[in-house]
Amino acid sequence: MELYSGYINKLVDELAALPGIGNKSAQRLAFHLIGMPEAKVRRLANSMIEAKANVRYCSKCFTLTDSDLCPICSKANRNHRLIMVVENSRDLAAYEKTGKFEGVYHVLHGAISPMTGIGPGDIKIKELVERCADDVDEVILATNSSLEGETTAMYISKLLKPMGIKVTRIASGVPVGGDLEYIDEVTLTRALDGRVEI
Ligand code: ZN
Repeated sequence: MELYSGYINKLVDELAALPGIGNKSAQRLAFHLIGMPEAKVRRLANSMIEAKANVRYCSKCFTLTDSDLCPICSKANRNHRLIMVVENSRDLAAYEKTGKFEGVYHVLHGAISPMTGIGPGDIKIKELVERCADDVDEVILATNSSLEGETTAMYISKLLKPMGIKVTRIASGVPVGGDLEYIDEVTLTRALDGRVEI
């Protein structure tokens, strides 16, 4: 027997399909939305549609942004010869929050994971190698210290080193399997300062 009407069920199903939202939370959110003033619901729905329509990848570093170049890539006072490679835009934000990094980033949008069938061609590695054909002094590999993150770092290092580029890996201190976005700024700064050439 269906507990709720078709419209409510549909909304609950859509919300439950989002990451980190179970069926109970989806129900709670659905009822909350239904109880909200219509203008507020419209504003929320529009912000989702507008973000989807207007947010794209930066043509240089592939982070999510509103324009062709993201604010970091368009800044002249950043060191564009120093590139930090991260797995996603959330990791970029975590490093950016430390305010200690003067270089630019490259967002891979994932990590190599043979277990789940994600190969080098599925993430932005080719684009990184293309960027490195320009003047680049150092590439800092700041992928997570999970098996996937380490595999990805090794793979990239093997591609870039023959090009004569200095390749470094952020220091451990970032716990194994640790997700960069949850690690505090002091630890991130320490990991960056203690990076070693590989
Ligand atoms: Zn960018």
